[in-house]
Amino acid sequence: MDRPDIAVIGAGIGGLTLGLALRRHGIRVRIYEQAPELAEVGAAVALAANGTRILRELGLRAALEPPSAVPTELIYRHWAQGGRVAAHPVGRWYEERFGAPFWGVHRAHLQRALAEAWGTDDLHLGKELTGLHREGDRSELVFADGSTATAGLVVGADGIRSRVRASITDVVPVYSGTSGFRGLVTRDAVPNLPDPDAVQFWMGPGAHLLHYATGQFINFLAVVEGPERWDAQGGTAEAADGTLAEAFRDWHPAIRTMVEAVPQSPRWGLFALPPLARWSADGVVLLGDAAHAMLPHHGQGANQTIEDAAVLAGCLHRYDDVSVALKAYERLRRCRTRQVQRSSWVTSSLLHLPDGDAAATRDRRLSNLVDDFSWIHAYDHREPLLQA
Ligand SMILES: Cc1cc2nc3c(=O)[nH]c(=O)nc-3n(C[C@H](O)[C@H](O)[C@H](O)COP(=O)(O)OP(=O)(O)OC[C@H]3O[C@@H](n4cnc5c(N)ncnc54)[C@H](O)[C@@H]3O)c2cc1C
Repeated sequence: MDRPDIAVIGAGIGGLTLGLALRRHGIRVRIYEQAPELAEVGAAVALAANGTRILRELGLRAALEPPSAVPTELIYRHWAQGGRVAAHPVGRWYEERFGAPFWGVHRAHLQRALAEAWGTDDLHLGKELTGLHREGDRSELVFADGSTATAGLVVGADGIRSRVRASITDVVPVYSGTSGFRGLVTRDAVPNLPDPDAVQFWMGPGAHLLHYATGQFINFLAVVEGPERWDAQGGTAEAADGTLAEAFRDWHPAIRTMVEAVPQSPRWGLFALPPLARWSADGVVLLGDAAHAMLPHHGQGANQTIEDAAVLAGCLHRYDDVSVALKAYERLRRCRTRQVQRSSWVTSSLLHLPDGDAAATRDRRLSNLVDDFSWIHAYDHREPLLQA
């Protein structure tokens, strides 16, 4: 199959990054997004070297560096006593070691930077994909507003509840048995927080809390075990007032101050997608959460999505035959994202160990963390493309 015209479904982190990466290669795409406008609300996102390397290459440094916070350290703490269990430098040390910075950035800044870089050409808002039919070498896209479009290649960058994925597989995300609460507090609201400029994991029995700074704010994700089942249709469900504060009632005073400083937010059910046997079929291919939604405990969902976009763009640029390009893309991406997914799942239970022997073993291993996880951060998407 020769290089076809491309339609991308979803203008989230993956869809826009792919569009920008393809544009750099001189390949034009149309992006269809269900939302009437591109606005990301809520929390922050941690961008690691494997993601920032690509975003800088796409010319986004000037837009993203100023609003981002570079953490001073990565610190693991005991849930109640607050003592340092392990600590590693980040800042300049991290950038020198991994060749690109670590940025904590508000999602709105990231979304805006990507959207402004893309512009309004070839962006179709208010287009919720509801149907996808293949006929010969073209796909017909059907949208909720009754309009239609056609494309030779359709990229599903439509997130964890991907509609495009349903045309390739009936595998759906599974609930992890854990849920999270996200929040933003001002620094002033947590004066008793030690090392507010660090990325910190507070680990305790059945729960953990991760936080990092973004500008004047501290962004946190508090994760708890349960509820046992997740029956809500979407990713979030209402939580009764005081649910979050109650879950961290016995924790260190800084953590109690932090969770009590925000109004009760909805509960996020944490889901992950079981590995897919394939990511593409018949002129359709998946990217980002649509292909490999993962638990957030390595802060890698968006970073892996950005890697996917750079590699898919590289493959489509390199191979005129799109079926060869898609095979190369899958070969380069499935194994890596599977490893990160699996590691995130294991990390979830390690962070929730009660005090005792298993927690002590984990704590000893944490001193080796940088070496143990350098395979995630050191990844340079250009190397596998060169070897492909
Ligand atoms: C609590 C939590 C914390 C996280 N923290 C981090 C972090 O610190 N670092 C990190 O790297 N990752 C993090 N992630 C993961 C990260 O947010 C995702 O992996 C990332 O957003 C995936 O990007 P995407 O483009 O694949 O999907 P999305 O960002 O979800 O974008 C999908 C887009 O497709 C659109 N869409 C969906 N369906 C349709 C349709 N039918 N028609 C048209 N458009 C459609 C949506 O409106 C959306 O704009 C976190 C996730 C959670 C849940």
